[in-house]
Amino acid sequence: MNLKIYNYLSRKKEPFKPIKKGLVGFYACGPTVYNYAHIGNLRAYIFEDVLRRTLEYAGYKVKHVMNITDVDDKIIAGARRAGKNVGDFSQPYKKAFFEDLNKLNIEKARKYPEATKHIPEMIKIAEKLLPKKIAYPAKDGIYFDISKFKSYGRLAGPKPKDRKDFVIWKYAKKGEPFWKSPFGPGRPGWHLECSAMSMKYLGASFDIHAGGVDLLFPHHENEIAQSESATGKKFVKYFVEGEHLLVEGNKMSKSLGNIFTLRDLEKQGFSPLVFRYLALSANYRSRLNFTWESLEAAQAALNRLYEFVLSQKLASENRLSLSSQTRARAHAYDFHPRVSDFEKAISNDLDVPKALAIMWKLIKDYNKSPQKYGAKEVLGALYEFDKVLGLGFKNLKAKSPSEEAIKLLKKREKARKTRDFKKADEIREHIRRLGWQVNDTPSGSQLFHL
Ligand code: AMP
Ligand code: ZN
Repeated sequence: MNLKIYNYLSRKKEPFKPIKKGLVGFYACGPTVYNYAHIGNLRAYIFEDVLRRTLEYAGYKVKHVMNITDVDDKIIAGARRAGKNVGDFSQPYKKAFFEDLNKLNIEKARKYPEATKHIPEMIKIAEKLLPKKIAYPAKDGIYFDISKFKSYGRLAGPKPKDRKDFVIWKYAKKGEPFWKSPFGPGRPGWHLECSAMSMKYLGASFDIHAGGVDLLFPHHENEIAQSESATGKKFVKYFVEGEHLLVEGNKMSKSLGNIFTLRDLEKQGFSPLVFRYLALSANYRSRLNFTWESLEAAQAALNRLYEFVLSQKLASENRLSLSSQTRARAHAYDFHPRVSDFEKAISNDLDVPKALAIMWKLIKDYNKSPQKYGAKEVLGALYEFDKVLGLGFKNLKAKSPSEEAIKLLKKREKARKTRDFKKADEIREHIRRLGWQVNDTPSGSQLFHL
């Protein structure tokens, strides 16, 4: 697989070549745990998951690190309002963050370093910059002098008015948590946290640094400046950034009251993977406008996919008497060309919408003439795709329908026999409300869980 990826350093799609053969150092900026992650944050984590899965699909070993920012102004303010210490205040949000990742089928990173546990590493970077006068003490903290870093701005190209020295160490204020340092008690600046934690686990130079586009400036720009000034080495080879999620055309913000969490979606009856599917349906470098209608469309598409996968599972396990026999006899169709089209799509800067279209086309062709294909073969191809998509095809299990659903199904079969299709449709709708989908096959009707 010849993977190409859009690198914000060159603003071009580049062939991906890691620094060390076969191994990828991958750092993604993680959450600031002062609140539940909103679905915009989750879009970013899903895109990073797809990137990581694609790298693994391509055969690389990926060392994936994601930080947890567990001390900053917002956390301190939140803790104060709640009358708690910073650790107790952030704990439930940290827990919720991991629950969200789990629900979204996001693969676990190798490490989730927490800022408050890496203060010595941050101090070390500041200690390298101070004697060289690249950093200097000011009234409220230690600042990085951007005029000392010649290529400042090379990532994000900020406007002159936005170029300013930035704080790497904030002096302690009354009532705030602080750590001792050779240059006075205080706490690290956010940018310094990410430089220290990424380099600790991935080395002074590593392959990929990812986040949402809002992090290009000042966060990633400043990380480059302080890291490269401290080590004299190139910090990161590829900066890969995902575009934003909008809500009904607007930026998500507290003042508009349009911030949603995964829990909000679940309360409306959507399973978390429906959001994952929605996120996959747009290219990571395009904005995605979230609407409830689009979530419903994603739900319908995912249901269809799951039904298909389940029916093929049943067929391949020979549980469908009639159709399984014909399928078992069918000669195995070679899906390799489809798989390689899929690979081409994802290797082209993660063109997941195209990859999804290829998967749907395969299903459509299969449904047109299932006798030509084998259920095992079609499943094999879908499982390959799912290594990247992460929609959980392999774990999908047909649940046993409730007695009520089975009773209704029998009633519907009777109605169909007497050609009372109006009644049959009504019953189908009733069954759907119970959470089951009716699928009519040559060997009878089956129920699928929605
Ligand atoms: P934060 O917790 O604010 O530091 O953000 C965590 C991640 O979510 C970062 O990678 C951000 O770039 C990303 N992010 C924040 N808002 C959005 C959004 N509306 N759409 C997509 N990603 C976002
Ligand atoms: Zn960061």
